[in-house]
Amino acid sequence: MITIQLNNVTKSYSGPDWEHDVQAGQGLFSHRQKAMPEPLDRDLALDNVTLTIHRGETVSVIGPSGCGKSTLLRIIAGLMQPTSGEVLYDGRPVSEVPVDKRGIGIVFQDCCLIPHLESYDNIGFFDIVHRTQHKIPARIEHIAEVMNVEIKYLLRRKPPQLSGGERQRVAIAHCLARDPKLFLFDEPLSNVDAKLRVSIRSNIKRLLDYYHITSVYVTHDQMEAIALSERIIVMNAGRIEQTGPYHRLYDAPANAFVAGFLGNPPMNLFEGYFREQSWHGKSFTIESLPHRLGEEKEILLGIRPEHIQIEMGGFPATVEGIDKHFSERAQVLHLRLNETFLAARTGIDLSVHPGETLPIRFPNEHLAFFDQTSGKRLGVRSIEGQ
Ligand code: ADP
Ligand code: MG
Repeated sequence: MITIQLNNVTKSYSGPDWEHDVQAGQGLFSHRQKAMPEPLDRDLALDNVTLTIHRGETVSVIGPSGCGKSTLLRIIAGLMQPTSGEVLYDGRPVSEVPVDKRGIGIVFQDCCLIPHLESYDNIGFFDIVHRTQHKIPARIEHIAEVMNVEIKYLLRRKPPQLSGGERQRVAIAHCLARDPKLFLFDEPLSNVDAKLRVSIRSNIKRLLDYYHITSVYVTHDQMEAIALSERIIVMNAGRIEQTGPYHRLYDAPANAFVAGFLGNPPMNLFEGYFREQSWHGKSFTIESLPHRLGEEKEILLGIRPEHIQIEMGGFPATVEGIDKHFSERAQVLHLRLNETFLAARTGIDLSVHPGETLPIRFPNEHLAFFDQTSGKRLGVRSIEGQ
């Protein structure tokens, strides 16, 4: 178990250090490099990232595709040098920790890697155990049992004809059985079907809790992030937007990006401006607001779909579509209010049909306001930090 610290880490893929990474990565990432991603439309893949991952903790990193999640993971693993800033393992720069002492396991979407031992096609670690011992160590038996993996698969060099889900279970069990000090996951379940994904993630959680392994779990699936970790890091365009437990990110988003990223569907955000205690959007106005938000300022108004009320005397909104979520006894209504589209969430018992008009209200106590230019939350003290 180790504590990982990133101080002001920046990564640019243009420039001489990236050439150096390609060479340094030969053997580890050589067949990955052939498929170069699209060039960046911004300068930095990581932009001034500062972060501490505590000993034994599992943190999840979520964010849209291309926001820098995999880059962050590779830099944490020391497989790539940051352009500036530092990565510390228990206070020591990662470059000073010999690769074979780092004790890292990484599981990718389609394979696993133990950097100091082998490259992609790991030799079965069990071969080593097998040569020296007759009895299967208890740890390996436990991991195989929780991950629902037959030990014979851990014995073989290449698991034969396994399905995607089975292969990932074997890969994860394999990495865990080696007792890593740091376990990094890069969207390991994104090619696994939905039902299996839920059961595998709960098995991973059980093992990480049991063995207290410092872990970073990258995903684009917020349900997975909530299931795996207490603390979630939301990334966008190379930066950390906010860090905290999910309920805090959800209830008190620090900015419009986090508000519009979390939730299913996420928070509705409407463009408008503030004048004389009222917010004015292109399709509706909200009056008598108790907030002081600055006259004539361009301000985004936000409201979660579940906070929109259907009540006599409200704004008339047309139902354009309905998504039923039976297991949650809920439905999402896709509504149009004049020129504005929005989503509302109601109980499944409300009988509505496409084309109908519903009266909707936006209760003051559930409104959030964001500076339209900077995206920053207004009117409340934003809760940031770790
Ligand atoms: P994510 O994992 O969140 O999808 P990545 O870390 O893979 O994001 O990529 C972050 C950004 O860096 C993307 O815009 C991507 O195009 C760019 N990038 C990633 N790898 C390379 C590379 N090898 N060469 C050039 N640009 C890259
Ligand atoms: Mg990625």
